[in-house]
Amino acid sequence: KPMEGRISDIGPHKYDDYFPPVIKKNFGKWLYHEILEPGVLLHVAESGDKVYTVRVGGTRTMSITHIRELCDIADKYCGGYLRWTTRNNIEFMVEDEATMKALRDDLNSRKFDGGSFKFPVGGTGASVSNMIHTQGWVHCHTPATDASGPVKCVMDALFDEFKHMRMPAPVRVALACCINMCGAVHCSDIGLVGIHRKPPMIDHEWADQLCEIPLAVAACPTAAVRPTKVEHNGEKVNSIAIKEDRCMYCGNCYTMCPALPIADSEGDGIAIMVGGKVSNRISMPKFSKVVVGYIPNEPPRWPSLTKTVKHIVEVYAANAEKYERLGEWAERIGWESFFKLTGLEFTHHLIDDFRDSAYYTWRQSTQFKF
Ligand code: SF4
Ligand code: SF4
Repeated sequence: KPMEGRISDIGPHKYDDYFPPVIKKNFGKWLYHEILEPGVLLHVAESGDKVYTVRVGGTRTMSITHIRELCDIADKYCGGYLRWTTRNNIEFMVEDEATMKALRDDLNSRKFDGGSFKFPVGGTGASVSNMIHTQGWVHCHTPATDASGPVKCVMDALFDEFKHMRMPAPVRVALACCINMCGAVHCSDIGLVGIHRKPPMIDHEWADQLCEIPLAVAACPTAAVRPTKVEHNGEKVNSIAIKEDRCMYCGNCYTMCPALPIADSEGDGIAIMVGGKVSNRISMPKFSKVVVGYIPNEPPRWPSLTKTVKHIVEVYAANAEKYERLGEWAERIGWESFFKLTGLEFTHHLIDDFRDSAYYTWRQSTQFKF
Protein backbone atom coordinates (compact mmCIF):
# COMPACT_ATOMS: atom_id res chain seq x y z
CA LYS A 1 0.00 0.00 0.00
CA PRO A 2 1.27 3.56 -0.66
CA MET A 3 3.09 5.11 2.28
CA GLU A 4 1.97 8.37 3.83
CA GLY A 5 3.79 11.37 2.36
CA ARG A 6 5.02 9.51 -0.74
CA ILE A 7 3.95 10.65 -4.17
CA SER A 8 4.89 7.39 -5.88
CA ASP A 9 5.72 3.80 -5.11
CA ILE A 10 9.13 4.01 -6.80
CA GLY A 11 12.13 2.81 -4.77
CA PRO A 12 12.41 0.69 -1.68
CA HIS A 13 10.32 1.33 1.40
CA LYS A 14 12.00 1.84 4.74
CA TYR A 15 13.44 -1.51 5.76
CA ASP A 16 11.32 -1.96 8.87
CA ASP A 17 7.96 -1.34 7.16
CA TYR A 18 7.67 -5.05 6.53
CA PHE A 19 9.08 -6.47 9.74
CA PRO A 20 6.88 -9.08 11.41
CA PRO A 21 5.55 -7.52 14.67
CA VAL A 22 7.79 -9.70 16.89
CA ILE A 23 10.90 -8.63 14.95
CA LYS A 24 9.90 -4.98 15.17
CA LYS A 25 9.24 -5.26 18.89
CA ASN A 26 12.60 -6.86 19.68
CA PHE A 27 14.72 -5.02 17.13
CA GLY A 28 18.34 -4.84 18.32
CA LYS A 29 17.50 -6.80 21.48
CA TRP A 30 18.22 -10.39 20.55
CA LEU A 31 20.15 -12.42 23.12
CA TYR A 32 21.27 -15.44 21.13
CA HIS A 33 20.32 -17.89 18.43
CA GLU A 34 20.86 -21.58 17.81
CA ILE A 35 20.30 -24.01 14.97
CA LEU A 36 17.78 -26.62 16.13
CA GLU A 37 18.10 -28.85 13.06
CA PRO A 38 19.13 -28.32 9.42
CA GLY A 39 17.12 -25.37 8.11
CA VAL A 40 15.55 -24.40 11.45
CA LEU A 41 16.85 -21.57 13.64
CA LEU A 42 15.67 -20.31 17.03
CA HIS A 43 16.27 -16.69 18.06
CA VAL A 44 15.61 -15.64 21.66
CA ALA A 45 15.14 -11.99 22.63
CA GLU A 46 15.86 -10.20 25.93
CA SER A 47 12.09 -9.97 26.43
CA GLY A 48 11.86 -13.78 26.33
CA ASP A 49 10.15 -13.70 22.92
CA LYS A 50 11.17 -16.52 20.60
CA VAL A 51 11.27 -16.67 16.83
CA TYR A 52 11.58 -19.95 14.94
CA THR A 53 12.88 -19.52 11.39
CA VAL A 54 12.42 -22.20 8.74
CA ARG A 55 14.73 -21.69 5.76
CA VAL A 56 14.04 -23.18 2.35
CA GLY A 57 16.17 -23.09 -0.76
CA GLY A 58 14.76 -20.99 -3.58
CA THR A 59 15.89 -19.81 -6.98
CA ARG A 60 16.91 -16.40 -8.17
CA THR A 61 14.46 -16.57 -11.07
CA MET A 62 11.00 -17.70 -9.99
CA SER A 63 7.66 -18.14 -11.70
CA ILE A 64 4.65 -16.18 -10.51
CA THR A 65 2.90 -19.41 -9.51
CA HIS A 66 5.88 -20.39 -7.35
CA ILE A 67 5.91 -16.99 -5.62
CA ARG A 68 2.13 -17.16 -5.09
CA GLU A 69 2.51 -20.54 -3.40
CA LEU A 70 5.22 -19.10 -1.11
CA CYS A 71 2.89 -16.22 -0.23
CA ASP A 72 0.02 -18.63 0.46
CA ILE A 73 2.29 -20.55 2.87
CA ALA A 74 3.26 -17.27 4.58
CA ASP A 75 -0.44 -16.35 4.90
CA LYS A 76 -1.23 -19.74 6.41
CA TYR A 77 1.55 -19.87 9.03
CA CYS A 78 3.29 -16.51 9.38
CA GLY A 79 0.64 -13.76 9.30
CA GLY A 80 1.60 -13.02 5.70
CA TYR A 81 5.28 -12.26 6.42
CA LEU A 82 8.27 -13.91 4.75
CA ARG A 83 11.75 -12.86 3.70
CA TRP A 84 14.22 -13.57 0.91
CA THR A 85 17.87 -13.88 1.87
CA THR A 86 20.82 -12.76 -0.25
CA ARG A 87 21.51 -16.40 -1.14
CA ASN A 88 18.07 -16.89 -2.70
CA ASN A 89 16.69 -18.69 0.34
CA ILE A 90 13.23 -17.95 1.68
CA GLU A 91 12.73 -17.69 5.43
CA PHE A 92 9.43 -18.19 7.24
CA MET A 93 9.25 -16.96 10.84
CA VAL A 94 6.83 -18.20 13.49
CA GLU A 95 6.60 -17.73 17.25
CA ASP A 96 5.90 -21.21 18.61
CA GLU A 97 7.38 -24.65 18.20
CA ALA A 98 4.19 -26.45 17.21
CA THR A 99 3.58 -24.06 14.28
CA MET A 100 7.23 -24.37 13.27
CA LYS A 101 6.94 -28.17 13.10
CA ALA A 102 3.70 -28.04 11.10
CA LEU A 103 5.24 -25.49 8.72
CA ARG A 104 8.46 -27.50 8.29
CA ASP A 105 6.55 -30.70 7.55
CA ASP A 106 4.23 -28.91 5.14
CA LEU A 107 7.22 -27.43 3.26
CA ASN A 108 9.00 -30.78 3.07
CA SER A 109 5.84 -32.48 1.77
CA ARG A 110 5.36 -30.15 -1.20
CA LYS A 111 6.87 -31.76 -4.30
CA PHE A 112 6.94 -31.18 -8.04
CA ASP A 113 5.30 -33.78 -10.29
CA GLY A 114 8.67 -35.52 -10.79
CA GLY A 115 8.99 -35.95 -7.01
CA SER A 116 11.67 -33.31 -6.31
CA PHE A 117 11.34 -30.90 -3.41
CA LYS A 118 9.60 -27.61 -4.16
CA PHE A 119 10.70 -25.99 -0.92
CA PRO A 120 13.65 -27.97 0.51
CA VAL A 121 14.38 -27.10 4.14
CA GLY A 122 18.09 -26.70 4.89
CA GLY A 123 21.10 -24.51 4.13
CA THR A 124 22.06 -23.63 7.73
CA GLY A 125 25.29 -24.09 9.70
CA ALA A 126 27.90 -26.54 8.45
CA SER A 127 26.03 -27.31 5.25
CA VAL A 128 26.44 -26.34 1.62
CA SER A 129 24.30 -23.24 1.53
CA ASN A 130 22.19 -22.19 -1.40
CA MET A 131 24.21 -20.54 -4.15
CA ILE A 132 24.28 -16.81 -4.67
CA HIS A 133 24.61 -16.03 -8.34
CA THR A 134 24.31 -13.49 -11.09
CA GLN A 135 22.09 -13.12 -14.12
CA GLY A 136 23.64 -15.23 -16.86
CA TRP A 137 22.27 -15.66 -20.33
CA VAL A 138 18.76 -14.82 -19.11
CA HIS A 139 19.42 -11.16 -18.65
CA CYS A 140 22.91 -9.64 -18.71
CA HIS A 141 24.93 -8.71 -21.79
CA THR A 142 28.52 -9.72 -20.88
CA PRO A 143 28.15 -13.26 -19.49
CA ALA A 144 30.70 -15.91 -20.42
CA THR A 145 28.43 -18.61 -19.03
CA ASP A 146 24.87 -19.01 -17.88
CA ALA A 147 24.06 -18.55 -14.20
CA SER A 148 20.77 -20.33 -13.43
CA GLY A 149 21.75 -23.40 -15.54
CA PRO A 150 25.08 -24.32 -13.92
CA VAL A 151 23.79 -23.29 -10.47
CA LYS A 152 20.87 -25.69 -10.81
CA CYS A 153 23.19 -28.54 -11.88
CA VAL A 154 25.77 -27.90 -9.14
CA MET A 155 23.11 -27.63 -6.43
CA ASP A 156 21.48 -30.85 -7.67
CA ALA A 157 24.87 -32.55 -7.19
CA LEU A 158 25.35 -31.05 -3.71
CA PHE A 159 21.73 -31.28 -2.60
CA ASP A 160 22.32 -33.86 0.16
CA GLU A 161 24.79 -31.46 1.78
CA PHE A 162 22.19 -28.68 1.68
CA LYS A 163 19.83 -30.90 3.72
CA HIS A 164 22.43 -31.93 6.31
CA MET A 165 25.02 -30.18 8.46
CA ARG A 166 27.85 -32.70 8.21
CA MET A 167 30.48 -30.52 6.52
CA PRO A 168 33.45 -29.40 8.67
CA ALA A 169 32.16 -25.81 8.43
CA PRO A 170 29.79 -23.76 6.24
CA VAL A 171 30.48 -24.13 2.51
CA ARG A 172 29.43 -21.07 0.53
CA VAL A 173 29.30 -21.60 -3.22
CA ALA A 174 28.75 -18.70 -5.61
CA LEU A 175 28.67 -18.12 -9.33
CA ALA A 176 29.37 -14.97 -11.37
CA CYS A 177 28.91 -15.21 -15.10
CA CYS A 178 31.71 -12.77 -15.98
CA ILE A 179 34.80 -11.42 -14.25
CA ASN A 180 32.99 -8.20 -13.38
CA MET A 181 31.59 -10.51 -10.70
CA CYS A 182 28.39 -8.99 -9.52
CA GLY A 183 28.16 -12.27 -7.49
CA ALA A 184 30.19 -13.00 -4.35
CA VAL A 185 32.75 -15.19 -6.03
CA HIS A 186 35.88 -13.40 -4.83
CA CYS A 187 35.27 -14.40 -1.20
CA SER A 188 33.38 -17.72 -1.37
CA ASP A 189 34.59 -21.17 -0.32
CA ILE A 190 33.96 -22.17 -3.92
CA GLY A 191 33.49 -19.55 -6.60
CA LEU A 192 32.58 -20.27 -10.21
CA VAL A 193 33.44 -17.47 -12.62
CA GLY A 194 32.48 -17.15 -16.24
CA ILE A 195 35.54 -16.23 -18.30
CA HIS A 196 35.98 -15.02 -21.84
CA ARG A 197 39.24 -16.03 -23.48
CA LYS A 198 39.18 -13.96 -26.63
CA PRO A 199 39.13 -10.19 -27.18
CA PRO A 200 35.96 -8.51 -28.46
CA MET A 201 35.14 -8.77 -32.14
CA ILE A 202 35.05 -5.32 -33.74
CA ASP A 203 32.15 -4.51 -36.01
CA HIS A 204 33.59 -1.63 -38.06
CA GLU A 205 30.32 -1.03 -39.88
CA TRP A 206 28.46 -0.10 -36.72
CA ALA A 207 31.14 1.14 -34.30
CA ASP A 208 30.74 4.83 -35.14
CA GLN A 209 26.97 4.57 -35.48
CA LEU A 210 26.13 2.64 -32.33
CA CYS A 211 28.87 3.86 -29.98
CA GLU A 212 30.33 6.92 -28.40
CA ILE A 213 33.87 5.82 -29.22
CA PRO A 214 35.49 7.88 -26.39
CA LEU A 215 33.25 6.03 -23.90
CA ALA A 216 34.48 2.66 -25.15
CA VAL A 217 38.07 3.90 -24.86
CA ALA A 218 37.48 5.16 -21.33
CA ALA A 219 35.76 1.92 -20.31
CA CYS A 220 38.84 -0.24 -20.79
CA PRO A 221 40.71 -0.83 -17.52
CA THR A 222 43.93 -1.82 -19.31
CA ALA A 223 43.98 0.93 -21.95
CA ALA A 224 43.71 -1.65 -24.73
CA VAL A 225 41.07 0.29 -26.68
CA ARG A 226 41.93 3.23 -28.90
CA PRO A 227 40.08 5.16 -31.61
CA THR A 228 41.18 4.58 -35.18
CA LYS A 229 40.10 5.03 -38.78
CA VAL A 230 39.69 1.96 -40.96
CA GLU A 231 38.82 1.23 -44.56
CA HIS A 232 35.29 -0.22 -44.68
CA ASN A 233 33.30 -0.78 -47.91
CA GLY A 234 35.68 1.53 -49.75
CA GLU A 235 35.32 4.35 -47.22
CA LYS A 236 37.40 5.57 -44.31
CA VAL A 237 35.27 5.21 -41.17
CA ASN A 238 35.80 6.03 -37.50
CA SER A 239 36.21 2.83 -35.52
CA ILE A 240 38.04 1.11 -32.71
CA ALA A 241 41.29 -0.82 -32.44
CA ILE A 242 42.11 -3.25 -29.62
CA LYS A 243 45.64 -4.06 -28.53
CA GLU A 244 45.07 -7.74 -27.97
CA ASP A 245 48.02 -8.43 -25.68
CA ARG A 246 46.66 -5.87 -23.22
CA CYS A 247 43.10 -7.24 -23.27
CA MET A 248 41.97 -9.22 -20.24
CA TYR A 249 38.64 -10.16 -21.87
CA CYS A 250 36.52 -8.41 -19.27
CA GLY A 251 33.82 -7.17 -21.64
CA ASN A 252 33.67 -3.66 -20.16
CA CYS A 253 34.06 -2.08 -23.59
CA TYR A 254 31.07 -4.07 -24.85
CA THR A 255 29.06 -2.57 -22.00
CA MET A 256 29.72 0.82 -23.58
CA CYS A 257 29.71 -0.22 -27.21
CA PRO A 258 27.39 -2.85 -28.74
CA ALA A 259 29.72 -3.06 -31.77
CA LEU A 260 32.30 -4.92 -29.62
CA PRO A 261 30.58 -8.26 -28.90
CA ILE A 262 32.70 -10.65 -26.81
CA ALA A 263 30.52 -13.77 -26.32
CA ASP A 264 32.08 -16.74 -28.11
CA SER A 265 31.04 -20.37 -27.90
CA GLU A 266 34.63 -21.69 -28.06
CA GLY A 267 36.39 -19.07 -25.96
CA ASP A 268 33.86 -18.82 -23.14
CA GLY A 269 33.70 -21.08 -20.09
CA ILE A 270 34.11 -21.25 -16.33
CA ALA A 271 37.06 -20.94 -13.93
CA ILE A 272 36.89 -22.31 -10.38
CA MET A 273 38.20 -20.35 -7.39
CA VAL A 274 38.32 -21.67 -3.84
CA GLY A 275 39.22 -20.71 -0.31
CA GLY A 276 37.59 -17.31 0.15
CA LYS A 277 35.42 -16.24 3.05
CA VAL A 278 33.90 -13.12 4.56
CA SER A 279 33.78 -14.41 8.12
CA ASN A 280 36.26 -13.27 10.76
CA ARG A 281 35.87 -16.48 12.76
CA ILE A 282 39.17 -18.32 13.48
CA SER A 283 41.06 -16.47 10.72
CA MET A 284 40.86 -13.25 8.75
CA PRO A 285 38.57 -12.93 5.72
CA LYS A 286 40.23 -14.24 2.57
CA PHE A 287 40.00 -13.86 -1.17
CA SER A 288 39.40 -16.96 -3.27
CA LYS A 289 42.21 -18.28 -5.51
CA VAL A 290 41.88 -19.76 -8.97
CA VAL A 291 42.43 -23.54 -8.91
CA VAL A 292 40.88 -24.55 -12.24
CA GLY A 293 41.65 -22.21 -15.13
CA TYR A 294 38.95 -23.27 -17.58
CA ILE A 295 36.02 -25.63 -17.92
CA PRO A 296 33.98 -25.44 -21.12
CA ASN A 297 30.32 -24.51 -21.13
CA GLU A 298 28.38 -27.75 -21.41
CA PRO A 299 24.69 -26.93 -21.28
CA PRO A 300 22.23 -28.18 -20.31
CA ARG A 301 23.81 -30.14 -17.40
CA TRP A 302 27.44 -28.86 -17.19
CA PRO A 303 28.82 -32.35 -16.31
CA SER A 304 32.54 -31.44 -16.05
CA LEU A 305 31.87 -28.44 -13.82
CA THR A 306 29.48 -30.35 -11.60
CA LYS A 307 31.85 -33.29 -11.20
CA THR A 308 34.80 -31.05 -10.33
CA VAL A 309 32.91 -29.01 -7.73
CA LYS A 310 31.48 -32.14 -6.10
CA HIS A 311 34.95 -33.66 -5.97
CA ILE A 312 36.46 -30.57 -4.28
CA VAL A 313 33.67 -30.62 -1.68
CA GLU A 314 34.17 -34.33 -1.01
CA VAL A 315 37.95 -34.05 -0.59
CA TYR A 316 37.51 -31.05 1.73
CA ALA A 317 34.86 -32.87 3.79
CA ALA A 318 37.05 -35.97 4.13
CA ASN A 319 40.21 -34.12 5.17
CA ALA A 320 39.43 -30.86 6.97
CA GLU A 321 39.09 -30.54 10.73
CA LYS A 322 35.86 -29.50 12.38
CA TYR A 323 35.19 -25.74 12.02
CA GLU A 324 37.84 -25.35 9.31
CA ARG A 325 36.62 -23.47 6.25
CA LEU A 326 37.92 -24.68 2.91
CA GLY A 327 40.58 -21.93 2.66
CA GLU A 328 41.73 -22.48 6.25
CA TRP A 329 42.16 -26.18 5.55
CA ALA A 330 44.12 -25.53 2.34
CA GLU A 331 46.39 -23.05 4.13
CA ARG A 332 47.00 -25.42 7.04
CA ILE A 333 47.98 -28.37 4.85
CA GLY A 334 49.64 -26.13 2.23
CA TRP A 335 48.21 -25.37 -1.20
CA GLU A 336 50.58 -27.92 -2.77
CA SER A 337 48.81 -30.59 -0.71
CA PHE A 338 45.45 -29.18 -1.75
CA PHE A 339 46.39 -29.78 -5.41
CA LYS A 340 47.75 -33.25 -4.61
CA LEU A 341 44.71 -34.34 -2.61
CA THR A 342 42.18 -33.02 -5.08
CA GLY A 343 44.16 -34.19 -8.11
CA LEU A 344 43.63 -30.79 -9.74
CA GLU A 345 46.45 -29.84 -12.06
CA PHE A 346 48.51 -26.77 -11.20
CA THR A 347 49.33 -24.97 -14.44
CA HIS A 348 50.82 -21.61 -15.39
CA HIS A 349 47.28 -20.44 -16.14
CA LEU A 350 46.71 -20.26 -12.40
CA ILE A 351 49.49 -17.73 -11.88
CA ASP A 352 48.23 -14.20 -12.13
CA ASP A 353 49.80 -10.82 -12.44
CA PHE A 354 48.32 -8.94 -9.51
CA ARG A 355 50.91 -6.85 -7.74
CA ASP A 356 48.75 -5.77 -4.82
CA SER A 357 49.90 -7.51 -1.66
CA ALA A 358 46.30 -7.54 -0.43
CA TYR A 359 45.60 -10.36 -2.87
CA TYR A 360 48.27 -12.82 -1.73
CA THR A 361 48.53 -14.52 -5.07
CA TRP A 362 50.43 -17.63 -5.99
CA ARG A 363 53.22 -15.60 -7.56
CA GLN A 364 53.91 -13.62 -4.41
CA SER A 365 54.09 -16.55 -2.06
CA THR A 366 57.68 -17.67 -1.54
CA GLN A 367 56.21 -20.63 0.33
CA PHE A 368 54.49 -22.06 -2.71
CA LYS A 369 56.74 -24.73 -4.22
CA PHE A 370 55.13 -25.79 -7.50
FE1 SF4 B 1 26.44 -9.41 -16.00
FE2 SF4 B 1 28.95 -10.04 -15.32
FE3 SF4 B 1 27.10 -9.67 -13.43
FE4 SF4 B 1 27.04 -11.82 -15.03
S1 SF4 B 1 28.62 -11.30 -13.48
S2 SF4 B 1 25.27 -10.55 -14.46
S3 SF4 B 1 27.71 -10.96 -16.98
S4 SF4 B 1 27.90 -8.11 -14.85
FE1 SF4 C 1 39.62 -3.62 -22.53
FE2 SF4 C 1 38.12 -5.42 -21.31
FE3 SF4 C 1 37.48 -4.56 -23.76
FE4 SF4 C 1 39.61 -6.13 -23.39
S1 SF4 C 1 37.47 -6.70 -23.05
S2 SF4 C 1 39.49 -4.32 -24.66
S3 SF4 C 1 40.35 -5.41 -21.40
S4 SF4 C 1 37.50 -3.35 -21.88
